[in-house]
Amino acid sequence: MKSVPSSAAAARFNSAWSDLAGLGRDHRRGGYSRHVFDDADMQMREWFTAQAQRRGLESEVDRNGNIWAWWGRPGPGAVVTGSHFDSVPGGGAFDGPLGIVSALLAIDEMRVRGVQPGKPVALVCFAEEEGGRFGLPCLGSRLMTGVVEPEHVRRLHDPDGISYADAARRVGFDAAAIGPDPERLAMIGAFIELHVEQGRLLHAADPNAAIGIGSQIVAHGRWRMTLTGEGNHAGTTRPVDRHDPMIPAAAAVLAARRALGRHDGAVATIGRLQPIPGGTNVIASSVDVWMDVRFEGAAQTAALVDEIVAAVREEAEMEGCSLVVHRESLSDAVMFDPALTMEMAASLDAPVIPTGAGHDAGVLADHAPSSMLFVRNPTGVSHAPGEHAETSDCLRGIEALADALTGLAR
Ligand SMILES: [Zn+2]
Repeated sequence: MKSVPSSAAAARFNSAWSDLAGLGRDHRRGGYSRHVFDDADMQMREWFTAQAQRRGLESEVDRNGNIWAWWGRPGPGAVVTGSHFDSVPGGGAFDGPLGIVSALLAIDEMRVRGVQPGKPVALVCFAEEEGGRFGLPCLGSRLMTGVVEPEHVRRLHDPDGISYADAARRVGFDAAAIGPDPERLAMIGAFIELHVEQGRLLHAADPNAAIGIGSQIVAHGRWRMTLTGEGNHAGTTRPVDRHDPMIPAAAAVLAARRALGRHDGAVATIGRLQPIPGGTNVIASSVDVWMDVRFEGAAQTAALVDEIVAAVREEAEMEGCSLVVHRESLSDAVMFDPALTMEMAASLDAPVIPTGAGHDAGVLADHAPSSMLFVRNPTGVSHAPGEHAETSDCLRGIEALADALTGLAR
């Protein structure tokens, strides 16, 4: 069903968007910093719960801190849509919240159309998708599906040294109960996540397309390299006496970029680095370097990391530094449900595109038929304040989501 979005739909979108616009702004980095259990996250959760209540949807927080709102009685075969509230540090406005706002507005659209779903429809807000606070992406969905150990998660620390368990306790959430939730998982009959596109593949597929359908997520992992040398005086330490871990850290940055030239389709990024103690007139005693790598499959990704690490190790040895490599996460490529993807692409007349970004839909794909709807992002910029989507494209996304949910819930 294709129609011109009504001005009422536009007004609903603008109202929801302006509600969220002031929450979690990062005045230092620009954009937004919203992380699980922080003030912005809690305000957004409250907002969602109130919005669900206004629509007569029963909402609940599951054992892993994800919020669910139900249209109809919770039960098996549920048609589920949603996304996440949290952002990367200094992230854009759309990554995550667009999927949640669209989920609410798709319900409104279905009601305007007089749709009576034959199956339960659920909206979900997943906790900590970006891993911006505790370093583990898709935390809420991974806990639910049991692919991470609850005890490991309880002990994760944020950059201020606060553990997940303590952060949860501070906002009145009991981390003792986190872990696999097979009953809830079994209720999901299908999952669709609407998301802003995070690149320009949609434009490449069809410059006129406002929306696209996700086919797969490439493999993705995060590694931390700890380089340890000898802290010393920047002014008095002769070159021959230095064991400066910043030297192999620099080699890591260059090795990551150079490896990409040898592997078409691979990306490796060092976007975070922390020298200890971090003084201008101090040779660092150690440096932590975090690396994000995405490539075809898990094996290819790990092999690419080995290549980069070999170059770093060589430089570390020459500098008299040690290197410890810790894998924080590695997820294999995920194919979205082919039948669901094909059906959505045909009925919505939208191109099918892969993505290099991780999503909760990728975690759920192993357990329930899952797919994604992407909304055009004119510049392709994401995980940065410049991320953008035009309101008319967002409205098209909401209509498409309503179409897809209606078809699935029949
Ligand atoms: Zn996202």
